[in-house]
Amino acid sequence: MASRARPQASLEPGLVVAAYGRRYRVEVDTGLEIDCMTRGKRSDVACGDRVRIARSGEGVGVIESIDERRTLFYRSDARRQKLIAANVTQIVVVVASRPAFSDDLVTRCLVGAEQAQISAIIALNKSDLPEVTDASAALDLYRALGYTVVLLSAKHDLTPLRGHLSNHTSVLVGQSGMGKSTIINGLVPQAAARVAEISAALGTGRHTTTHAELYRLDPDSSIIDSPGLQEFGLHHLTLDDAAHAFVEFRQWLGDCRFRNCRHMSEPDCAILSAAARGDIAQRRIHAYHRLAEELSRKRAEWQ
Ligand code: GDP
Ligand code: ZN
Repeated sequence: MASRARPQASLEPGLVVAAYGRRYRVEVDTGLEIDCMTRGKRSDVACGDRVRIARSGEGVGVIESIDERRTLFYRSDARRQKLIAANVTQIVVVVASRPAFSDDLVTRCLVGAEQAQISAIIALNKSDLPEVTDASAALDLYRALGYTVVLLSAKHDLTPLRGHLSNHTSVLVGQSGMGKSTIINGLVPQAAARVAEISAALGTGRHTTTHAELYRLDPDSSIIDSPGLQEFGLHHLTLDDAAHAFVEFRQWLGDCRFRNCRHMSEPDCAILSAAARGDIAQRRIHAYHRLAEELSRKRAEWQ
């Protein structure tokens, strides 16, 4: 029988170690890194993806397919999804003593992590500054919910964080200015040179992270650095998803009078009752209400 199109098996497997715009660097089994594009307008490839590529020349290739993902961490606005990282086993939300961090952004990162079923920890950087006391107290809420909070001073000592990274593929997320680059440069000495190289190649002229990049820490651990966040859109969530992503709500979900209760102002709402009793923190119910209102507006726009 005449042979059909070339079988998928002839494609070469690889790992996406950097994603910038629609360009990707893919590490193949020999350790070589291949500059890859996608076909057509496809842009649904994320750093950390395992892919199949076809070489198209010396050191260049095309991503033909993406292997099944264990996890996908992404945010989304009204128009589209913004992929952050694939196949990570842990999200590290980086905040700092100074400048003040956005509590709303922390909540949203944690909600995004819960929705994606990826565990999350919070790293409070710049613990050498006097503001650390207040910043750490502001995070007590998350400690009470079961999230690990790690205090560190990336400028001086990364030891407190290191142990939490072993045997994980972690992704660092956070606002710019919190110290993500300092953490990466401390963990991966060759990272600074890499970022400078890519900034030059892209002509951005700034040595900031404009892309996501994966670094190996040891044979069983790696870390993905992602661009600084200003917002974390959660348009991909339904109201029900949102309520489940507030971990402490789960024990009462299903106990409301109405099965489709939105926990906004309905009578006999188990979530609002728990909040009134003090079993759910005010900051959390307010954060949920802000998110739920945003998601309801989004639904109204679609109708
Ligand atoms: P990024 O925008 O999150 O990548 O943040 P950078 O790593 O660029 O850090 C922002 C600023 O915070 C820089 O001026 C760093 O020198 C400073 N910084 C980072 N880590 C620490 C720390 O542990 N202690 C103090 N005092 N400053 C830090
Ligand atoms: Zn309710």
